Amino acid sequence: MSISYDLKPVGVAAAADSLTARPSLVGKSREELGTALQAVGVPERQVRMRVSQLWHWLYVRGVSSFADMANISADLREKLAAHFSVARPEIVTGQISADGTRKWLLRFPPRGAGRPVEVETVYIPEEGRGTLCISSQVGCTLTCSFCHTGTQRLVRNLTAEEILAQLLVARDCLGDFPGKDTPAGAIVPEEGRKISNIVMMGMGEPLYNFDAVKQALLIASDGEGLSLSKRRITLSTSGIVPEIYRAGEEIGVMLAISLHAVSNPLRDMLVPINKKYPLEELMEACRQYPGLSNARRITFEYVMLKDVNDSVEDARKLVALLKGIPAKINLIPFNPWPGSNYQCSDWEQIERFADIVNKAGYASPVRTPRGRDILAACGQLKSQSERLRKTERQALEKECA
Ligand code: SAH
Ligand code: SF4
Repeated sequence: MSISYDLKPVGVAAAADSLTARPSLVGKSREELGTALQAVGVPERQVRMRVSQLWHWLYVRGVSSFADMANISADLREKLAAHFSVARPEIVTGQISADGTRKWLLRFPPRGAGRPVEVETVYIPEEGRGTLCISSQVGCTLTCSFCHTGTQRLVRNLTAEEILAQLLVARDCLGDFPGKDTPAGAIVPEEGRKISNIVMMGMGEPLYNFDAVKQALLIASDGEGLSLSKRRITLSTSGIVPEIYRAGEEIGVMLAISLHAVSNPLRDMLVPINKKYPLEELMEACRQYPGLSNARRITFEYVMLKDVNDSVEDARKLVALLKGIPAKINLIPFNPWPGSNYQCSDWEQIERFADIVNKAGYASPVRTPRGRDILAACGQLKSQSERLRKTERQALEKECA
Protein backbone atom coordinates (compact mmCIF):
# COMPACT_ATOMS: atom_id res chain seq x y z
CA MET A 1 0.00 0.00 0.00
CA SER A 2 1.24 3.52 -0.65
CA ILE A 3 0.51 6.81 1.01
CA SER A 4 -0.18 9.98 -0.94
CA TYR A 5 0.12 13.27 0.84
CA ASP A 6 -1.07 16.61 -0.37
CA LEU A 7 1.61 19.27 -0.50
CA LYS A 8 -0.45 21.95 -2.19
CA PRO A 9 0.00 24.63 0.51
CA VAL A 10 3.79 24.58 0.10
CA GLY A 11 3.50 24.10 -3.62
CA VAL A 12 1.16 26.99 -4.23
CA ALA A 13 3.46 29.47 -2.49
CA ALA A 14 6.47 28.27 -4.46
CA ALA A 15 4.53 28.26 -7.71
CA ALA A 16 3.33 31.83 -7.27
CA ASP A 17 6.96 32.94 -7.08
CA SER A 18 8.34 30.69 -9.78
CA LEU A 19 5.66 31.70 -12.26
CA THR A 20 6.67 35.34 -12.13
CA ALA A 21 9.11 34.50 -14.94
CA ARG A 22 12.08 36.13 -13.25
CA PRO A 23 15.14 34.14 -14.27
CA SER A 24 16.38 31.77 -11.60
CA LEU A 25 19.87 31.98 -10.17
CA VAL A 26 19.79 28.26 -9.37
CA GLY A 27 21.87 26.21 -11.80
CA LYS A 28 24.03 29.10 -12.98
CA SER A 29 27.80 28.72 -13.04
CA ARG A 30 29.86 31.13 -10.90
CA GLU A 31 30.66 33.11 -14.03
CA GLU A 32 26.99 33.41 -14.97
CA LEU A 33 26.15 34.47 -11.41
CA GLY A 34 28.84 37.16 -11.67
CA THR A 35 27.29 38.47 -14.87
CA ALA A 36 23.84 38.50 -13.24
CA LEU A 37 25.17 40.45 -10.25
CA GLN A 38 26.90 43.00 -12.44
CA ALA A 39 23.66 43.46 -14.35
CA VAL A 40 21.95 44.67 -11.17
CA GLY A 41 24.78 47.09 -10.40
CA VAL A 42 27.14 45.14 -8.12
CA PRO A 43 30.57 46.80 -8.59
CA GLU A 44 33.14 44.57 -10.28
CA ARG A 45 35.44 44.48 -7.23
CA GLN A 46 32.66 42.95 -5.12
CA VAL A 47 31.46 40.37 -7.61
CA ARG A 48 33.68 37.48 -6.47
CA MET A 49 32.72 37.89 -2.85
CA ARG A 50 29.01 38.20 -3.64
CA VAL A 51 29.11 35.12 -5.86
CA SER A 52 30.67 33.13 -2.99
CA GLN A 53 27.97 34.34 -0.62
CA LEU A 54 25.18 33.42 -3.03
CA TRP A 55 26.74 30.02 -3.69
CA HIS A 56 26.87 29.33 0.03
CA TRP A 57 23.23 30.33 0.59
CA LEU A 58 21.96 28.37 -2.38
CA TYR A 59 23.94 25.18 -2.05
CA VAL A 60 25.21 24.88 1.53
CA ARG A 61 22.28 26.43 3.39
CA GLY A 62 19.67 25.61 0.79
CA VAL A 63 17.64 28.81 1.15
CA SER A 64 14.91 29.49 -1.39
CA SER A 65 14.36 33.18 -0.72
CA PHE A 66 16.69 36.18 -0.97
CA ALA A 67 15.22 37.44 2.31
CA ASP A 68 17.01 34.62 4.17
CA MET A 69 20.48 35.56 2.89
CA ALA A 70 21.48 37.20 6.15
CA ASN A 71 24.94 38.53 5.26
CA ILE A 72 23.80 40.25 2.07
CA SER A 73 22.64 43.84 2.54
CA ALA A 74 18.90 44.48 2.49
CA ASP A 75 19.38 46.81 -0.45
CA LEU A 76 21.07 44.20 -2.61
CA ARG A 77 18.63 41.48 -1.52
CA GLU A 78 15.79 43.67 -2.73
CA LYS A 79 17.48 44.34 -6.04
CA LEU A 80 18.15 40.67 -6.56
CA ALA A 81 14.60 39.74 -5.66
CA ALA A 82 13.27 42.31 -8.16
CA HIS A 83 15.22 40.72 -11.03
CA PHE A 84 15.77 37.09 -10.16
CA SER A 85 14.25 34.14 -8.35
CA VAL A 86 15.70 31.36 -6.20
CA ALA A 87 12.30 29.75 -5.52
CA ARG A 88 11.66 26.02 -5.66
CA PRO A 89 9.31 24.51 -8.23
CA GLU A 90 5.82 23.51 -7.23
CA ILE A 91 5.50 20.08 -5.62
CA VAL A 92 2.32 18.71 -7.17
CA THR A 93 2.24 15.45 -5.20
CA GLY A 94 4.45 13.45 -2.92
CA GLN A 95 4.03 9.74 -2.36
CA ILE A 96 5.63 7.31 0.05
CA SER A 97 5.77 3.63 -0.81
CA ALA A 98 5.26 0.87 1.75
CA ASP A 99 9.03 0.24 1.47
CA GLY A 100 9.94 3.87 2.27
CA THR A 101 10.68 4.93 -1.32
CA ARG A 102 9.41 8.43 -2.01
CA LYS A 103 8.33 9.97 -5.27
CA TRP A 104 7.65 13.62 -5.98
CA LEU A 105 5.89 15.06 -8.98
CA LEU A 106 7.32 18.52 -9.63
CA ARG A 107 5.87 21.17 -11.91
CA PHE A 108 8.15 23.59 -13.71
CA PRO A 109 6.91 26.80 -15.29
CA PRO A 110 6.68 27.12 -19.08
CA ARG A 111 9.70 28.03 -21.20
CA GLY A 112 8.82 30.41 -24.03
CA ALA A 113 5.56 29.42 -25.67
CA GLY A 114 5.50 26.02 -23.97
CA ARG A 115 3.34 24.76 -21.15
CA PRO A 116 4.34 23.94 -17.59
CA VAL A 117 5.92 20.49 -17.46
CA GLU A 118 5.84 17.81 -14.81
CA VAL A 119 8.71 15.59 -13.80
CA GLU A 120 9.13 12.71 -11.36
CA THR A 121 11.99 12.35 -8.89
CA VAL A 122 12.46 9.31 -6.65
CA TYR A 123 14.27 8.81 -3.34
CA ILE A 124 15.35 5.30 -2.38
CA PRO A 125 16.50 4.81 1.23
CA GLU A 126 18.79 1.82 1.77
CA GLU A 127 20.89 0.46 4.58
CA GLY A 128 23.75 2.94 5.00
CA ARG A 129 22.83 5.14 2.07
CA GLY A 130 20.08 7.00 0.28
CA THR A 131 19.89 7.50 -3.47
CA LEU A 132 18.04 10.19 -5.38
CA CYS A 133 17.00 9.25 -8.89
CA ILE A 134 16.87 12.39 -11.03
CA SER A 135 15.21 13.04 -14.40
CA SER A 136 16.99 14.83 -17.24
CA GLN A 137 14.19 15.21 -19.80
CA VAL A 138 10.41 15.27 -19.90
CA GLY A 139 9.73 12.16 -21.96
CA CYS A 140 12.47 10.67 -24.12
CA THR A 141 13.30 10.66 -27.84
CA LEU A 142 14.32 7.03 -27.57
CA THR A 143 11.84 4.19 -27.59
CA CYS A 144 13.27 1.30 -25.61
CA SER A 145 10.46 -1.18 -25.88
CA PHE A 146 10.29 -2.18 -22.18
CA CYS A 147 10.39 1.37 -20.76
CA HIS A 148 7.36 3.42 -19.79
CA THR A 149 9.15 6.74 -20.32
CA GLY A 150 9.89 5.55 -23.87
CA THR A 151 6.17 5.63 -24.65
CA GLN A 152 6.08 9.37 -23.94
CA ARG A 153 7.47 11.53 -26.70
CA LEU A 154 10.05 14.11 -25.75
CA VAL A 155 8.34 17.23 -24.46
CA ARG A 156 11.55 19.08 -23.76
CA ASN A 157 14.97 18.96 -22.15
CA LEU A 158 15.17 20.08 -18.55
CA THR A 159 17.42 23.05 -17.80
CA ALA A 160 20.36 22.82 -15.38
CA GLU A 161 18.18 24.69 -12.90
CA GLU A 162 15.40 22.14 -13.19
CA ILE A 163 17.76 19.19 -12.85
CA LEU A 164 19.33 20.69 -9.72
CA ALA A 165 15.95 21.76 -8.34
CA GLN A 166 15.04 18.07 -8.02
CA LEU A 167 17.98 17.61 -5.64
CA LEU A 168 17.20 20.81 -3.72
CA VAL A 169 13.51 19.94 -3.24
CA ALA A 170 14.37 16.42 -2.09
CA ARG A 171 16.95 17.79 0.36
CA ASP A 172 14.34 20.24 1.70
CA CYS A 173 11.79 17.48 2.19
CA LEU A 174 14.27 15.07 3.78
CA GLY A 175 15.89 17.64 6.08
CA ASP A 176 19.31 17.51 4.41
CA PHE A 177 19.77 21.29 4.61
CA PRO A 178 20.39 23.06 7.91
CA GLY A 179 17.42 25.27 8.87
CA LYS A 180 17.83 28.95 8.12
CA ASP A 181 18.22 29.71 11.83
CA THR A 182 21.08 27.24 12.38
CA PRO A 183 24.30 29.08 13.26
CA ALA A 184 26.72 29.65 10.38
CA GLY A 185 29.03 26.69 9.85
CA ALA A 186 26.55 24.15 11.26
CA ILE A 187 25.91 22.25 8.05
CA VAL A 188 24.45 18.76 7.86
CA PRO A 189 27.56 16.55 7.93
CA GLU A 190 28.18 14.28 4.94
CA GLU A 191 27.62 11.10 6.96
CA GLY A 192 24.31 12.40 8.32
CA ARG A 193 22.78 13.15 4.95
CA LYS A 194 19.75 11.28 3.73
CA ILE A 195 20.82 11.73 0.12
CA SER A 196 24.31 10.28 -0.13
CA ASN A 197 24.16 9.33 -3.83
CA ILE A 198 22.50 10.55 -6.97
CA VAL A 199 21.74 8.64 -10.14
CA MET A 200 20.67 10.14 -13.46
CA MET A 201 18.22 7.29 -14.01
CA GLY A 202 14.88 9.06 -14.00
CA MET A 203 13.03 10.17 -17.10
CA GLY A 204 15.03 10.82 -20.25
CA GLU A 205 18.39 10.15 -21.82
CA PRO A 206 20.88 12.38 -19.96
CA LEU A 207 23.45 12.38 -22.76
CA TYR A 208 20.88 13.89 -25.14
CA ASN A 209 20.74 16.86 -22.78
CA PHE A 210 24.47 17.03 -22.32
CA ASP A 211 25.14 20.68 -21.48
CA ALA A 212 22.42 21.04 -18.85
CA VAL A 213 23.25 17.70 -17.23
CA LYS A 214 26.93 18.59 -17.18
CA GLN A 215 26.32 21.96 -15.57
CA ALA A 216 23.94 20.51 -12.95
CA LEU A 217 26.31 17.67 -12.03
CA LEU A 218 29.32 19.97 -11.79
CA ILE A 219 27.34 22.15 -9.38
CA ALA A 220 26.13 19.11 -7.39
CA SER A 221 29.72 17.94 -6.97
CA ASP A 222 31.20 21.38 -6.25
CA GLY A 223 33.20 21.20 -3.02
CA GLU A 224 32.06 24.62 -1.81
CA GLY A 225 28.40 23.79 -2.25
CA LEU A 226 26.41 20.59 -2.40
CA SER A 227 29.68 18.64 -2.23
CA LEU A 228 28.55 15.27 -3.53
CA SER A 229 31.58 13.24 -4.50
CA LYS A 230 31.69 12.35 -8.21
CA ARG A 231 32.06 8.74 -7.11
CA ARG A 232 28.59 8.99 -5.65
CA ILE A 233 27.02 10.34 -8.82
CA THR A 234 26.10 7.89 -11.58
CA LEU A 235 24.95 8.81 -15.04
CA SER A 236 22.99 6.10 -16.84
CA THR A 237 22.87 6.04 -20.62
CA SER A 238 21.32 3.84 -23.26
CA GLY A 239 24.63 4.14 -25.09
CA ILE A 240 25.13 7.45 -26.92
CA VAL A 241 28.72 6.66 -27.86
CA PRO A 242 30.16 10.10 -28.79
CA GLU A 243 28.72 11.65 -25.65
CA ILE A 244 30.12 8.83 -23.46
CA TYR A 245 33.59 10.02 -24.49
CA ARG A 246 32.62 13.61 -23.72
CA ALA A 247 31.09 12.66 -20.36
CA GLY A 248 34.32 10.95 -19.35
CA GLU A 249 36.37 14.00 -20.19
CA GLU A 250 34.05 16.80 -19.14
CA ILE A 251 31.90 15.47 -16.28
CA GLY A 252 33.89 12.61 -14.75
CA VAL A 253 31.07 10.95 -12.80
CA MET A 254 30.44 7.22 -12.61
CA LEU A 255 28.92 5.62 -15.69
CA ALA A 256 26.09 3.11 -16.03
CA ILE A 257 25.20 1.51 -19.35
CA SER A 258 21.72 0.19 -20.10
CA LEU A 259 22.95 -2.91 -21.87
CA HIS A 260 19.99 -5.34 -21.69
CA ALA A 261 21.17 -7.58 -24.54
CA VAL A 262 24.41 -9.21 -25.65
CA SER A 263 23.80 -9.44 -29.39
CA ASN A 264 23.13 -6.66 -31.85
CA PRO A 265 19.87 -8.06 -33.32
CA LEU A 266 18.21 -8.32 -29.89
CA ARG A 267 19.62 -5.03 -28.63
CA ASP A 268 18.37 -3.33 -31.82
CA MET A 269 14.89 -4.38 -30.73
CA LEU A 270 15.10 -3.58 -27.03
CA VAL A 271 17.25 -0.45 -27.18
CA PRO A 272 16.82 0.86 -30.75
CA ILE A 273 19.67 3.41 -30.45
CA ASN A 274 21.85 0.30 -30.83
CA LYS A 275 21.23 0.49 -34.58
CA LYS A 276 23.16 3.77 -34.58
CA TYR A 277 25.79 2.81 -31.97
CA PRO A 278 26.18 -0.98 -32.01
CA LEU A 279 27.65 -3.08 -29.21
CA GLU A 280 31.22 -3.09 -30.57
CA GLU A 281 31.37 0.74 -30.52
CA LEU A 282 29.66 0.91 -27.15
CA MET A 283 32.08 -1.54 -25.56
CA GLU A 284 35.05 0.35 -26.99
CA ALA A 285 33.77 3.61 -25.46
CA CYS A 286 33.42 1.80 -22.13
CA ARG A 287 36.95 0.43 -22.30
CA GLN A 288 38.23 3.94 -22.87
CA TYR A 289 36.21 5.58 -20.08
CA PRO A 290 38.77 7.49 -18.00
CA GLY A 291 39.78 6.49 -14.49
CA LEU A 292 38.44 2.94 -14.47
CA SER A 293 39.80 0.61 -11.82
CA ASN A 294 38.47 -2.09 -9.52
CA ALA A 295 37.33 0.65 -7.18
CA ARG A 296 35.79 2.65 -10.03
CA ARG A 297 33.75 0.38 -12.26
CA ILE A 298 31.16 0.86 -14.95
CA THR A 299 27.72 -0.48 -13.99
CA PHE A 300 26.00 -2.55 -16.68
CA GLU A 301 22.23 -2.64 -16.26
CA TYR A 302 20.38 -5.65 -17.57
CA VAL A 303 16.60 -5.83 -17.36
CA MET A 304 15.35 -9.40 -16.91
CA LEU A 305 12.70 -10.10 -19.55
CA LYS A 306 11.09 -13.51 -19.52
CA ASP A 307 12.13 -15.66 -22.53
CA VAL A 308 13.64 -12.64 -24.25
CA ASN A 309 17.14 -12.07 -22.85
CA ASP A 310 17.28 -14.28 -19.75
CA SER A 311 18.78 -17.59 -20.92
CA VAL A 312 21.82 -19.23 -19.40
CA GLU A 313 23.49 -18.72 -22.78
CA ASP A 314 22.81 -14.96 -22.51
CA ALA A 315 24.39 -14.93 -19.04
CA ARG A 316 27.55 -16.60 -20.34
CA LYS A 317 27.76 -14.21 -23.29
CA LEU A 318 27.31 -11.28 -20.91
CA VAL A 319 30.26 -12.35 -18.82
CA ALA A 320 32.36 -12.83 -21.98
CA LEU A 321 31.33 -9.43 -23.38
CA LEU A 322 32.44 -7.58 -20.25
CA LYS A 323 35.78 -9.36 -19.95
CA GLY A 324 38.57 -6.90 -19.25
CA ILE A 325 36.29 -3.98 -18.30
CA PRO A 326 36.14 -3.10 -14.58
CA ALA A 327 32.41 -3.71 -14.30
CA LYS A 328 29.48 -4.16 -11.95
CA ILE A 329 26.40 -5.95 -13.21
CA ASN A 330 22.95 -4.91 -12.13
CA LEU A 331 20.20 -7.36 -13.02
CA ILE A 332 16.92 -5.45 -12.88
CA PRO A 333 13.73 -7.49 -12.59
CA PHE A 334 11.42 -6.03 -15.24
CA ASN A 335 8.97 -3.58 -13.67
CA PRO A 336 5.63 -3.79 -15.42
CA TRP A 337 3.60 -0.73 -16.33
CA PRO A 338 0.10 -0.33 -17.75
CA GLY A 339 0.14 -1.65 -21.32
CA SER A 340 3.65 -3.15 -21.28
CA ASN A 341 4.24 -6.18 -23.51
CA TYR A 342 6.85 -7.99 -21.45
CA GLN A 343 6.89 -10.17 -18.37
CA CYS A 344 9.51 -10.29 -15.70
CA SER A 345 11.67 -13.43 -15.78
CA ASP A 346 10.76 -16.14 -13.28
CA TRP A 347 12.60 -15.87 -10.01
CA GLU A 348 14.38 -19.23 -10.54
CA GLN A 349 15.61 -18.06 -13.92
CA ILE A 350 16.90 -14.79 -12.45
CA GLU A 351 18.73 -16.85 -9.83
CA ARG A 352 20.21 -19.14 -12.45
CA PHE A 353 21.35 -16.13 -14.47
CA ALA A 354 22.70 -14.38 -11.35
CA ASP A 355 24.57 -17.51 -10.35
CA ILE A 356 26.59 -17.52 -13.57
CA VAL A 357 27.30 -13.84 -13.16
CA ASN A 358 28.24 -14.36 -9.48
CA LYS A 359 30.60 -17.19 -10.31
CA ALA A 360 32.34 -14.89 -12.79
CA GLY A 361 33.15 -12.61 -9.83
CA TYR A 362 30.31 -10.07 -9.82
CA ALA A 363 28.75 -9.83 -6.34
CA SER A 364 24.98 -9.57 -5.56
CA PRO A 365 23.90 -8.44 -8.99
CA VAL A 366 20.09 -8.43 -8.61
CA ARG A 367 18.55 -5.03 -7.93
CA THR A 368 15.55 -5.31 -5.61
CA PRO A 369 12.65 -3.42 -7.12
CA ARG A 370 11.73 -0.44 -4.92
CA GLY A 371 8.58 1.66 -4.85
CA ARG A 372 6.67 -0.50 -7.35
CA ASP A 373 3.38 0.27 -5.56
CA ILE A 374 3.73 3.98 -6.38
CA LEU A 375 5.11 3.31 -9.90
CA ALA A 376 8.50 4.64 -8.80
CA ALA A 377 10.66 1.69 -9.88
CA CYS A 378 13.10 1.80 -12.83
CA GLY A 379 11.38 2.52 -16.09
CA GLN A 380 7.97 3.22 -14.57
CA LEU A 381 8.21 7.00 -14.55
CA LYS A 382 6.01 8.90 -16.93
CA SER A 383 4.46 12.31 -16.48
CA GLN A 384 1.21 13.65 -17.81
CA SER A 385 3.04 16.36 -19.74
CA GLU A 386 2.58 15.62 -23.40
CA ARG A 387 4.05 17.42 -26.34
CA LEU A 388 1.80 20.10 -27.78
CA ARG A 389 0.00 19.03 -30.93
CA LYS A 390 1.17 20.91 -34.01
CA THR A 391 -2.06 22.90 -34.26
CA GLU A 392 -1.89 23.91 -30.60
CA ARG A 393 1.72 24.95 -31.02
CA GLN A 394 0.89 27.05 -34.08
CA ALA A 395 -2.00 28.70 -32.22
CA LEU A 396 0.31 29.54 -29.32
CA GLU A 397 3.00 30.87 -31.63
CA LYS A 398 0.43 33.17 -33.25
CA GLU A 399 -0.71 34.39 -29.83
CA CYS A 400 2.86 35.20 -28.85
CA ALA A 401 3.87 36.85 -32.13
N1 SAH B 1 17.67 6.84 -20.23
C1 SAH B 1 18.69 6.36 -19.40
C2 SAH B 1 18.40 6.51 -17.93
C3 SAH B 1 17.02 6.21 -17.43
S1 SAH B 1 16.40 4.58 -17.32
C4 SAH B 1 19.01 4.92 -19.73
O1 SAH B 1 18.27 4.32 -20.50
O2 SAH B 1 20.00 4.42 -19.22
C5 SAH B 1 17.15 3.78 -15.90
C6 SAH B 1 17.26 2.25 -16.09
O3 SAH B 1 16.00 1.57 -15.97
C7 SAH B 1 17.79 1.89 -17.46
O4 SAH B 1 18.74 0.87 -17.38
C8 SAH B 1 16.55 1.41 -18.15
O5 SAH B 1 16.85 0.63 -19.25
C9 SAH B 1 15.86 0.66 -17.04
N2 SAH B 1 14.44 0.39 -17.30
C10 SAH B 1 13.62 1.04 -18.13
N3 SAH B 1 12.37 0.49 -18.09
C11 SAH B 1 12.42 -0.52 -17.20
C12 SAH B 1 11.44 -1.42 -16.68
N4 SAH B 1 10.19 -1.37 -17.09
N5 SAH B 1 11.83 -2.31 -15.76
C13 SAH B 1 13.11 -2.33 -15.31
N6 SAH B 1 14.07 -1.49 -15.75
C14 SAH B 1 13.73 -0.59 -16.68
FE1 SF4 C 1 14.69 6.63 -22.76
FE2 SF4 C 1 16.23 5.29 -20.98
FE3 SF4 C 1 13.61 4.70 -21.26
FE4 SF4 C 1 15.33 4.06 -23.21
S1 SF4 C 1 15.33 3.26 -21.10
S2 SF4 C 1 13.30 5.03 -23.49
S3 SF4 C 1 16.74 5.82 -23.13
S4 SF4 C 1 14.46 6.65 -20.53
